[in-house]
Amino acid sequence: MSVIQAPRGTFDVLPADAARRAILEEHAERILGAAGYGRIETPTFESTVLFSRGVGEATDIVQKEMYTFDDGGGRSMTLRPEGTAPVCRAYLEHGMHKLPQPVKLWYLSSFFRAEAPQRGRYRQFWQVGAEAIGSAGPETDAELILLLADLLREMGIAHTRLRLSSLGTPETRAEYREELAAYLRAHEDELAPEVVARIDLNPMRAFDASDRTTKRTMANAPTLLDRLADDDAVHFEHVRELLDDAEQPYELDPKLVRGLDYYTRTVFEFTSDALGAQSGVGGGGRYDGLIEMLGGQPTPASGWAAGIERILLAAPEPPLAPPQVDLFVALATEDAARQAFALVREARRVGLSAQLELTDRSLRGQLRHADRIGARYVAIIGSEPQISLKEMESGEQSELEPRSVIPTILRGNRLV
Ligand code: AMP
Repeated sequence: MSVIQAPRGTFDVLPADAARRAILEEHAERILGAAGYGRIETPTFESTVLFSRGVGEATDIVQKEMYTFDDGGGRSMTLRPEGTAPVCRAYLEHGMHKLPQPVKLWYLSSFFRAEAPQRGRYRQFWQVGAEAIGSAGPETDAELILLLADLLREMGIAHTRLRLSSLGTPETRAEYREELAAYLRAHEDELAPEVVARIDLNPMRAFDASDRTTKRTMANAPTLLDRLADDDAVHFEHVRELLDDAEQPYELDPKLVRGLDYYTRTVFEFTSDALGAQSGVGGGGRYDGLIEMLGGQPTPASGWAAGIERILLAAPEPPLAPPQVDLFVALATEDAARQAFALVREARRVGLSAQLELTDRSLRGQLRHADRIGARYVAIIGSEPQISLKEMESGEQSELEPRSVIPTILRGNRLV
């Protein structure tokens, strides 16, 4: 019979990976907790309408990447592809607008997108994210960006680039799109055919073209940053000032368009060259229209999400301390099993890490196993009333009354 494998684009988190993830989670908890962010966990699936309305009907995520299913009762559900819409739903559902604003929330959860799998791109992946709901100020945007920069730095990711832009309002964006499309049409004969073909669909893509004549034409194209309304431009200026004051380097990237419809004003993305094709480590921005789109009062908000797997791919491997095993209990005879079981439980009760022989190895095999897992002591229980306690490093062995075994180990451990 063939062995069943995990679905394509998914992966198992094995103990060594789990240890690195735990380190990342600790950093996130400390950095975001210190800035007043409280942890939130939302359901793994939501009503499909939350994403079609919140993320945007026309986006790649909603068009192509959602795992959507009938819940058995004729209701359409979707495995969450992102965290911002669910957090905003929870904000509204729990009346968090009545709390002191902004409400600052963070999460670390798994998300699902039906994308073509490759290194750093999976169908189930994890994100750590932070959302500040109820504040319009540029300080909120700058603070969020710096918190993500802190997290990446503390994970030891040395070379990140921060790309920054402002999208203004949806109206500015729509007008700009028209202007850019008109510019491209006026210069059609200087553009690559694939750029011309996409003028109506996505004129912004023209900025990504690599051929020389298109590049030359795009160098003179109008940019959205030049078309921002006055108050949006002032807001962006303040965000930049705060980042400058904090000595956080960034590159202005007027082409930065993020794959979700809800962004307004500030948008940003951290990339790492260590990652290859999927270089985005994390990103986000301001989404002042989203809460209203979900049925709430107009409420400004801002946030980011960063991919756990991408952070771990970009971060250096930390030297992992092997798990400590204070005591391994070996069996010299079969009928020692009950006493061994009790000894292990007692050892754990006083805070020692203890393991029990769980297969039918010979005594020699058990000692070899104890050595391999790095046990400091091995207690050998046989038919004698006394227990043999062996200190593995020195090889010293002594016969002890059963009640003396644990105090001896504790003394050796300098716990008492
Ligand atoms: P997004 O929600 O698309 O802005 O993504 C935020 C971050 O999540 C990205 O910068 C990636 O680090 C990570 N991410 C997004 N999609 C995937 C995926 N399919 N697999 C792994 N990580 C992802």
